Amino acid sequence: MILTGNARKAGIMGWPVAHSRSPALHGFWLERHGIDGAYVPMAVRPEDLAPALRALPVLGFAGCNLTLPHKEAALRIVDHVDPLASSIGAVNTIIVRADRSLEGQNSDAFGFIENLRDALPGWSASRGPAAVVGAGGAARAILAALLEDGAPEIRLVNRTAARAAALAAEFGAAVLPVSWQKRSEALAGAALLVNATNQGMAGMAPLDLTLDALPLDAIVHDIVYVPIETPLLVAARQRGNPVVDGLGMLLHQARPGFAAWFGVMPAVTPALRAAVLATLSSS
Ligand code: NAP
Repeated sequence: MILTGNARKAGIMGWPVAHSRSPALHGFWLERHGIDGAYVPMAVRPEDLAPALRALPVLGFAGCNLTLPHKEAALRIVDHVDPLASSIGAVNTIIVRADRSLEGQNSDAFGFIENLRDALPGWSASRGPAAVVGAGGAARAILAALLEDGAPEIRLVNRTAARAAALAAEFGAAVLPVSWQKRSEALAGAALLVNATNQGMAGMAPLDLTLDALPLDAIVHDIVYVPIETPLLVAARQRGNPVVDGLGMLLHQARPGFAAWFGVMPAVTPALRAAVLATLSSS
């Protein structure tokens, strides 16, 4: 580790923040690239977010990531909001500009698409209809990413119908809200199924979804990454569908921030994956 008086500084603000894997992830890249820099966890209460963000340029930070519960509140605090972050309705990456103003970006859509491209070379959302389960913050980024990559149709399933309808109205005619009762039927002819709910996470019930109607060549992607092999992925793998787990999205979404703060676009490698997986299994 190199840490001199000239070290470049970034970190992550959350409340709580101790669960975050971002310090381990960015620490791996700093070490790998021999960068004089530090990436630190910052436990920031919701009521302290504005002064904490304003302190970034004062303290010489190049920026930071944001995690729960700060992603939406930051939209109203930063000086400039990137259009993608604005359409997703959340900021997870802050860049301190040369004039000390704060730019808010969202890298979840990038992470989602880059992970699929990395796992499935040549993959594109334009290949066919997608079925997305969930209409929370992660689903917003996924809709933006799929539409940007040319998805012809997105069937949006959510337990609470009003949330899916509101998102579909916001994102346009290619997004079709589907009732929870019809969730299994919505998989017919889909080229991609994404779980963007918290179901299947350690401590939660498995996602309540029957895969019978899903074509066997459809990709099944669970963005939940604790556990890495969710019940949905186990069921999909057993019937022969190609599967993509959620860890890659987490790793890829970190890349644009690292590049902006430390000047190198880092790669997601098997060694990085193994290092972050080790932190997941030890917690
Ligand atoms: P969120 O905003 O709280 O949304 C939660 C979603 O789960 C909602 O659609 C909710 O439906 C649904 N849900 C909750 N309980 C349910 C149940 N019993 N049955 C069916 N649906 C249920 O959460 P989020 O920020 O979008 O995150 C969702 C998951 O994605 C989390 O597990 C998070 O860790 C993971 N995630 C992963 C990455 C990554 O990089 N891999 C990035 C972001 C998030 P209702 O609207 O009906 O409540």
